[in-house]
Amino acid sequence: MKNIVLFGPPGAGKGTQAEILKERYQLVHISTGEVFRYNIKNETALGTLAKSYMDKGHLVPDKVTINMLKDEVEKHPEAKGFIFDGFPRTEAQAEALAVLMETKGSQINAMVALEVADGILVERLLERGKSSGRPDDANETVIRERIAEYYRKTDILKAFYQKQHKYYGVDGVGSIEEITLRLSAVIDAL
Ligand code: AMP
Repeated sequence: MKNIVLFGPPGAGKGTQAEILKERYQLVHISTGEVFRYNIKNETALGTLAKSYMDKGHLVPDKVTINMLKDEVEKHPEAKGFIFDGFPRTEAQAEALAVLMETKGSQINAMVALEVADGILVERLLERGKSSGRPDDANETVIRERIAEYYRKTDILKAFYQKQHKYYGVDGVGSIEEITLRLSAVIDAL
């Protein structure tokens, strides 16, 4: 099993690259943001709760997010591996993910991080907001709050995976194809 965490701040290109990599490596792609948006669209209780945080650019509480992630993983007993996009985002989530993978006799093989400067992120997200239909992309204050939340709670995960010698940084600026090549070079070498 090859399990990859695709990491990086909002707007780094995780979703775009995960869609390509899942095909290339036959991995199950789980995007926690996408699962939350699906629940919002379907007006579930989880969706209502998640929306109250997402609209402000804040993270959804760990307990809710971890339970939801576990359910998503359990839906794919046949998986050859997973690509996690937007999870983990806190140390508690990273620890829960390690335990979950262990119960499957597996582990996270690598965190591959897309590195992009903040100024570029804001520009990209504002541009994406013109067509994504995502309310959290349409408002610059919310975009900046998402990036601030990333530095408050998520950025430390780099050290978490570095300690385990599982962190791989990749330049996230360039064409989609160039970035896929950089990510694939890391994954192929695992
Ligand atoms: P994303 O689609 O990854 O940009 O996520 C959109 C929003 O969903 C985030 O700004 C958070 O509010 C929420 N979210 C997604 N993944 C997580 C997570 N792992 N932990 C907490 N909140 C999350």
